[in-house]
Amino acid sequence: MRLVMIGAPASGKGTQAHKLTRHFELDHISTGEMLRAEEAKRSELGMVVESYLKHGQLVPDSLVVRLVGERLIHNHLAQGVILDGFPRTLNQALALDKALQELGQVIDAALLIEVPDSAVLERITGRRADPETGRIYHLKFSPPPPEILHRLVQRDDDTTEVMQARLGTYHERIAPVVDHYRNRRLLIAVDGTPAPEEVFQELLGRLSSLNIRG
Ligand code: AMP
Repeated sequence: MRLVMIGAPASGKGTQAHKLTRHFELDHISTGEMLRAEEAKRSELGMVVESYLKHGQLVPDSLVVRLVGERLIHNHLAQGVILDGFPRTLNQALALDKALQELGQVIDAALLIEVPDSAVLERITGRRADPETGRIYHLKFSPPPPEILHRLVQRDDDTTEVMQARLGTYHERIAPVVDHYRNRRLLIAVDGTPAPEEVFQELLGRLSSLNIRG
């Protein structure tokens, strides 16, 4: 099963991608996580992408496509993969189609998690990450245990100002990607506002009706 996961920042796409990864035993490729890891390592690529991440701007297509391409080749695609946060532009979607074609693979479904901008902004201001475990909490919706509160951090790009820029870019760039998958009858759009488990069950239900093999 080869899936792509599309959704605004804080739409819950990362959470759903993790759940689907565990459920179907997929390889999880999150471009956001990969880029943040490069930044933390202070690798050459990390230094280049640092200011894009900080300002909520998309990293140039060529860099992300190369990163994903390398991961796809090293992954055992036959066992299935979920791409989380990629593609984010039409160029990336076309590059992905080409890379998969060379590997004799296709995308089975593009999952779109829809959440209104107002809800995204509310979610983002309370989001905190635990650097030790990588777990994401929300001060209101998914409160962390009090004893780890002191070590939680807010992502640099999780401020309201950066968020508004990210949402603007997201809507502008994702529209042609959504059309690309809708035209190919691969789009599965779900409401991302209910509780995560409910969204997950909806995704499972919609995926089960596809009859995907391999
Ligand atoms: P995410 O964790 O998916 O919200 O991504 C965090 C940040 O990483 C984004 O705001 C972008 O700066 C960068 N990024 C992640 N995925 C991509 C992508 N497919 N294309 C370009 N930039 C990306």
